[in-house]
Amino acid sequence: MSADVSPLVERLGPSRVLTGPSIPPRYQTDAFRAHRGSLLEENRPPPAAVVLPQSVDEVVTVVRFVVEAGLKLVPWGGGTGLMGGARPTFDSIVLDLRNMRRVRSIDAASGTATVEAGIVLEVLDRRLRKRGLTLGHDPWSRPRATVGGAIGTNGIGYAGYLRGTMGDQVLGLEAVLANGSVIRTRPAARSTTGLDLKGLFIGSEGTLGIVTGATLRVFPVPEAEEIHAFRLKDFATGFAALGRLYDDGLTPSVMDFEETFEAPALPWSGEAGPPTLYLGFAGAEEIVAASWRIARRCLKAADARALPDREARDYWRTRHDIIYMHDEVSPGVTRADVALKETIFDYVHVALPRSRIMAFRRAALPILRHYDVHPIGFGLWTQPELVSVEVVKPVVGERVAAKAAVAGALDSLIRKAHVLGGSMEYVHGIGVKLAHLMGEELGTGVDLARRIKNALDPSGILNPGKLGL
Ligand SMILES: Cc1cc2nc3c(=O)[nH]c(=O)nc-3n(C[C@H](O)[C@H](O)[C@H](O)COP(=O)(O)OP(=O)(O)OC[C@H]3O[C@@H](n4cnc5c(N)ncnc54)[C@H](O)[C@@H]3O)c2cc1C
Repeated sequence: MSADVSPLVERLGPSRVLTGPSIPPRYQTDAFRAHRGSLLEENRPPPAAVVLPQSVDEVVTVVRFVVEAGLKLVPWGGGTGLMGGARPTFDSIVLDLRNMRRVRSIDAASGTATVEAGIVLEVLDRRLRKRGLTLGHDPWSRPRATVGGAIGTNGIGYAGYLRGTMGDQVLGLEAVLANGSVIRTRPAARSTTGLDLKGLFIGSEGTLGIVTGATLRVFPVPEAEEIHAFRLKDFATGFAALGRLYDDGLTPSVMDFEETFEAPALPWSGEAGPPTLYLGFAGAEEIVAASWRIARRCLKAADARALPDREARDYWRTRHDIIYMHDEVSPGVTRADVALKETIFDYVHVALPRSRIMAFRRAALPILRHYDVHPIGFGLWTQPELVSVEVVKPVVGERVAAKAAVAGALDSLIRKAHVLGGSMEYVHGIGVKLAHLMGEELGTGVDLARRIKNALDPSGILNPGKLGL
């Protein structure tokens, strides 16, 4: 679609308004790529334009223009979202916020930082470290994802149990609404003043407003941080030990417990190799030492075997490497696209009551077998209630059939999580990928969500179709 965006070009200059062939292909989709188990179309049309604003005023200008021109607006941070939340439509303007990357202020005494939304998480963490502080939110995608995207998806990182989700770290927030007005909430540690307005923009994937800035809770760089790796005898024993450890009041800064399956070796027996646990504590030296004393007691009782220190060191050093798979090797083609050309690779990340985790695991494996989809990992991340299942299916014959099998398996896993009283996604949001399941997730709440959307964005200009809205 060739929309007339000349008023924007006049206002912002041609280098910050990209149209037609000057739009790089990477803007056609985020990290929700063709290798995923979804039947949504793989070939994406380019957006009508890409705009790179540098100030809140410029965002307001773009929003007003979009309303007048009858277009749509899709906020874009690092484009690392895994659910298609930043996927544009042909009639949308992509608003790439990465030129809005200033640190407005750091208040070290209060442990807060006020930043623009387009700053990359790792860049912000580096700035904070110069002041003896750290961001806390540390997802795998830290070198590429932005604060605005992390707020938009309410993401969670390695230290999620200790530091909370990205949304938990937001004290105050600045957002541009669909009518061009700007809302700024007070950056207070706590507030009981009725509706939590900032909460509207956390996890709502740009469907209710464009986040332009935020005041975040940040943390002193911990005096000590110690991570160790263990091999557990089997999943059930490790899971029980972890439960005791959390019940004793420990707050791990890292917890990653996973059994890995040999894939795609068939016939698949249903039992994985013994699981590995990466566990860490951070804070004052005495607290870390005491935490390890208690943790070791729990793990010893479960016959956990300590692995050489190198294991944990390598795990920690390489924790962000996977995000570079989403860098381009040629225009519009990422390393992941190349590596997974003949494989469908996908996952679910469900949150369950702790008492239902083992039931979910028992049900998950036959579901995957039914769809002839191979598990490669079943794990818990940050806390024992948060479960990941990773699967693959080699493409043999029809690609669409392999995708359909994975899509069917993942939907069944999610429905099982619903039956067990859980939520279908704890980390990556909904985007377009899980939009078809929002009715089942929210029940009658879907209607309320739609009414909120209509009230805030009556013309439906903000990131349409995402979150099922
Ligand atoms: C290899 C890999 C590993 C990952 N690991 C993690 C992980 O450990 N933890 C985790 O939480 N996520 C992870 N993710 C997912 C992704 O990195 C997160 O969802 C991240 O928060 C997205 O940030 P982004 O800046 O790239 O946002 P984008 O992908 O650009 O956008 C994400 C969503 O937020 C909206 N949005 C973006 N900016 C704004 C804004 N300023 N205002 C309003 N809405 C906005 C977009 O429209 C979209 O709906 C991973 C992704 C990959 C590819």
